[in-house]
Amino acid sequence: MGFLTDLTCTRCGRAYPKDRLWNLSPCCEAPLFARYDLEGAMGELKRERLAERMPTMWRYAEVLPVEREDYRVSLGEGFTPLLQVTSLGQQVGAPKLYMKDEGNNPTGSFKARGLSVAVSRACELGARAVAIPSAGNAGGATAAYAARAGMRAHIFMPRDVPRANRVECEVLGAHVELVDGLITDCGRIVAGRKDREGWFDVSTLKEPYRVEGKKTMGYELAEQFDWDLPEVVIYPTGGGTGLIGMWKAFDEMEQMGWIGSKRPRMVSVQAAGCAPIVRAFEAGAASAEPWEGAETAAAGLRVPRAVGDFLMLRAIRESGGCAVAVSDEELMACVWEMASATGIFPAPEGAANLAGLKGLVKQGLVSPDERVVVFNTGSGLKYIDVISGVMLQ
Ligand SMILES: *Cc1c(COP(=O)(O)O)cnc(C)c1O
Repeated sequence: MGFLTDLTCTRCGRAYPKDRLWNLSPCCEAPLFARYDLEGAMGELKRERLAERMPTMWRYAEVLPVEREDYRVSLGEGFTPLLQVTSLGQQVGAPKLYMKDEGNNPTGSFKARGLSVAVSRACELGARAVAIPSAGNAGGATAAYAARAGMRAHIFMPRDVPRANRVECEVLGAHVELVDGLITDCGRIVAGRKDREGWFDVSTLKEPYRVEGKKTMGYELAEQFDWDLPEVVIYPTGGGTGLIGMWKAFDEMEQMGWIGSKRPRMVSVQAAGCAPIVRAFEAGAASAEPWEGAETAAAGLRVPRAVGDFLMLRAIRESGGCAVAVSDEELMACVWEMASATGIFPAPEGAANLAGLKGLVKQGLVSPDERVVVFNTGSGLKYIDVISGVMLQ
């Protein structure tokens, strides 16, 4: 069952068999991508018949890597609403504005998509324990799906992670360790201990399947726009998995004849206190240098070094998009502005997109007739301590 054929190295294209657990490619230490028999998948997965399927990301199961349905570890993730947010759009000069509300996912963020697939596939291939470094939401999602699967979860978080993320992990039964440092320091600890402890490392893009879960945002965008993709997608990037995943989804859909060659311009928004991708984009570089002294209240954006940096930069450039930085002051103000104009209480990362959009409109990089989608990647409720801290000031 399933149409997964093999995995390929994103640097050199070398193929690896699908039926064992992999982290980075042994050849280049680069992310591995899942490859499918798309001809075969097309025979069962019909664009016209999607409406008959369940309203979760598993409606695209033929292009997901889990082979046996009973290994699907699901809490009902994906197929989130695409909301028209016209009055907010009018306020900022982009009246054809939409918000894809990922705060609606289990555990309150889009991390649910990736971890549902990664935990499912790890379980299918025999892993009994997973480990992850997390700046916030990835930890909660790992804890939830591991609990659902009956697996152990070991989560390493910076000590100053938003409180809800830590409490959530503990309540869900995960082993949590707080680290004096950043997500990259947490990642080093996982890498150093995983073999000895028998953990499977589900760090983003260091295993092949979280990006498969996140790519379903691209499938949903196409489906919800009736197969005519919007002109601009604005996405807050940390590790960049969602942006890279959507870019992969667009390719797969084109190969299946679902969409044409037209692509949205992909815009990466980062916090000014941690903007390695923006710096690399502006320098015309193919990869990003690690960011020193990373600092931002948008925890999901506090990623000083991303293993998929070159994939992100490539997708942004191929799409004709760009990478922009916004200050914490701007993005926090946008939490209020976005919430009161839309009825959705966004995560600071989601609000950062609004700050980014304002800059693009001002510079004439987005015109009023274009359809623009901002991804609210999580619920503001997970950041109550951070956001109420700003209110008290
Ligand atoms: C993790 C996270 C991000 C960054 O996502 P990537 O796909 O890794 O770039 C953005 N927003 C929120 C709320 C997150 O939890």
